[in-house]
Amino acid sequence: MAKSPRAGYARGVATPFSDRLLDADTRRAHLRDVIRRTQASDRPVVVFDLDGTLLDNRPRTVAILRELAHQWQEHEERQDHAKTLHGATVDDTVYSLAENLQRLGVHEDHHEPAFDFWKERFFHDDYMHHDVALPGAVDFARTLYAAGANLVYLTGRDLPGMALGTFKSLRDEGFPIGIVGTELVVKPDFDTPDPAFKKDVAETLDRLGEVVAAFDNEAANCNLLLEEHPACLTFFVDTLCAPNPPALRPEVHVIDHFEI
Ligand SMILES: [Mg+2]
Repeated sequence: MAKSPRAGYARGVATPFSDRLLDADTRRAHLRDVIRRTQASDRPVVVFDLDGTLLDNRPRTVAILRELAHQWQEHEERQDHAKTLHGATVDDTVYSLAENLQRLGVHEDHHEPAFDFWKERFFHDDYMHHDVALPGAVDFARTLYAAGANLVYLTGRDLPGMALGTFKSLRDEGFPIGIVGTELVVKPDFDTPDPAFKKDVAETLDRLGEVVAAFDNEAANCNLLLEEHPACLTFFVDTLCAPNPPALRPEVHVIDHFEI
């Protein structure tokens, strides 16, 4: 099936920061400012998170739920739930799998096996190919690269389970990767908490150059990148985020895609 960028995330699913979403003209102005600052810097670095930032991973969850539906068709007591899982769509996919199952009407008794099935696949190389670039993301990354940026894909995905599939997914979507001036930075293991990992990496980015901009869909990560690199233009990408985020620093711009 051909993949194509979707027109932003469904606005029915708001994050705590959706009320700060910039209008189109302001978004374009700030994204163009990133390009200008990249051109003006001797050694510009731009940092991108992947899940919920450059990539929409909801199709990955939908694909896994449909695969689970096939398996459950063989279980007499789960056949009804198999039908509801087949009905899962990207637009009604939210952050938490438990909430997705609840929204689809899957009885709580079946949540644990469903979660185990999902977790085994969602965090695995073989399923990264379902991800789709956010609108404008590929062009924006390519424009920055052409303007001289060192692109750092800084993700909470882990090296043992997800790095190879991620590399392939970025390549297939058309992002600059595998060439001088691009880095895929992943966690050494699955269990390291993302913010601690990203904070450690943020402290080392100076060796590549000047961090001119950073993009992430988690407020904690936006805040820590800005704290470590106070001059960087920082963007919260308003897609899906983990529950109970901290307050987002006021300097952080809120966008929901990358079209200029
Ligand atoms: Mg993310």
